[in-house]
Amino acid sequence: MNKHLGSIDRIAEWAEDLTEIRWDIHAHPELGFEENRTSDIVAEKLAEYGCEVHRGLGQTGVVGTLRVGNSTRSVGLRADMDALPILEANTFGYRSTYEGKMHACGHDGHTTMLLGAARYLAETMNFDGQVHFIFQPAEEGIGGAKAMIEDGLFEQFPCDVIFGMHNRPNLDVGKFAVRPGPMMAGGGFFDIHIEGIGAHGARPEVGVDPVIVAAQMVTALQTIVSRNLYSQEQAVLSITQIHAGNAYNVIPQTAHLAGTVRTFSEKTMETVEKNMGRIIKNVAASFGASATFDFRYLFAPTVNTPGEAEFVSDVVAGLVGEENVDRHGPLIMASEDFSWMLREVQGAYFNIGNGGPDGNCEVHNPGYDFNDDALTLGASAFVKIVETRLVGEI
Ligand SMILES: [Zn+2]
Ligand SMILES: [Zn+2]
Repeated sequence: MNKHLGSIDRIAEWAEDLTEIRWDIHAHPELGFEENRTSDIVAEKLAEYGCEVHRGLGQTGVVGTLRVGNSTRSVGLRADMDALPILEANTFGYRSTYEGKMHACGHDGHTTMLLGAARYLAETMNFDGQVHFIFQPAEEGIGGAKAMIEDGLFEQFPCDVIFGMHNRPNLDVGKFAVRPGPMMAGGGFFDIHIEGIGAHGARPEVGVDPVIVAAQMVTALQTIVSRNLYSQEQAVLSITQIHAGNAYNVIPQTAHLAGTVRTFSEKTMETVEKNMGRIIKNVAASFGASATFDFRYLFAPTVNTPGEAEFVSDVVAGLVGEENVDRHGPLIMASEDFSWMLREVQGAYFNIGNGGPDGNCEVHNPGYDFNDDALTLGASAFVKIVETRLVGEI
């Protein structure tokens, strides 16, 4: 099979160049807000292609702009640049050279695909209006999208619509998936600090055991999803950390719980947070302990505007055929901080197949790798979005 099926011919010619860029970024992964080398590469390439380049939004963010004609119509395209604190298990030649850091979510591929689109659009200029190529830092839970917005992203670079793309393992290369309305969950992280009274392990009656409180709290918190939410509402509450004590014969003074909540609406997130607060305070009090609760709402739900989801589906169907586009893909419980951009500007977030399951494990796994066979197709999808949306006056 032609690996570049569905790709624009000219972009297919650049397959090796794009792969080289992707491998270079993969070998030098940088964590959120530390993407100095990566953003240097992005800025250099954009300038080389002929884009206006703007740096410093959201610290390491980069925006490239192309303008054709006098129209103020505009499209924003977004890629993320950050890596994860994971020790790479892959052994291929371009594996991470930075110990303990890894592109395990494919943002190396996303950045490369958007660079490919910028190169093509700068060369052909076959559109009427403005395109903003938005390279954002720190997608992985530390607020890169918000940081760019707070630095004036959409005031300086107004976008009528915005689109973002993420690879999806277990979706064949050559396929796309999108969904109108909610697509990915909103997410929050929380910490619970329980204060008891430490004592000798043999004399619990003179202390207040925070381990018992933590155990009751974990169980009680699980009733929120099953008992406090409407049954059609989807939500997850996971306690992912329990820390207490460090001796066999000491009842510790404190215990610490932490975890995450995912929901598809902000209202449901508020309901979960409110009920957590009530349970935490009262479970602690019922044992004579006290507790503090810190909840950080980090990701809004990713909600596509129906018109833009349909538009993207039509565009990619034009590249790969209707049979390779899932217009009503599944709800995804993971979160994505492109959601903050979609709260400001209408648009859509969509998935491109990364292949698998053979040899292509899930994102955030130490054996994950972006599939280079998707590079030219992803770049072509971004290009066609622009050329279709910003078609010249007829
Ligand atoms: Zn990720
Ligand atoms: Zn990601």
